[in-house]
Amino acid sequence: MKKCYNCSKVNKDTDNYCRNCGYILKNKKYYITLGVMVISMIVILAILILLIILSFIKI
Ligand SMILES: [Zn+2]
Repeated sequence: MKKCYNCSKVNKDTDNYCRNCGYILKNKKYYITLGVMVISMIVILAILILLIILSFIKI
């Protein structure tokens, strides 16, 4: 069961919008934080690879 974040009415799991107020039940914040996490992971990996390459060049 999905509880509406806006009016706290309980909707079905298959519902994408609240039956009472029409609020979007899919959690957008989750997708945004997931995207930010993936981007930061890629940046960290790129920095690590760069550091490894730089250490090899010095030798
Ligand atoms: Zn609602």
